[in-house]
Amino acid sequence: MKTAKKSGKSCEACGGQNTKTHLATYPVKMDERELNVERVSVRECIDCHAINPTQAGREKIQRCMMTFMMFLDE
Ligand SMILES: [Zn+2]
Repeated sequence: MKTAKKSGKSCEACGGQNTKTHLATYPVKMDERELNVERVSVRECIDCHAINPTQAGREKIQRCMMTFMMFLDE
């Protein structure tokens, strides 16, 4: 038996293998502010519904935070 889609990645919260990747708005907390990064590639666990950004998602969050902080400095 084969699973339809197997990413080979497990959930960081519960270790479950049932995860799906999709785009979501991911909230990032920075000090007292909260930045909502749109369309971040995240891996959602079907078992516990934990959401973890994928590698591409993390890179996008990093870029958004850098841009955000540059705006704050001005
Ligand atoms: Zn999980």
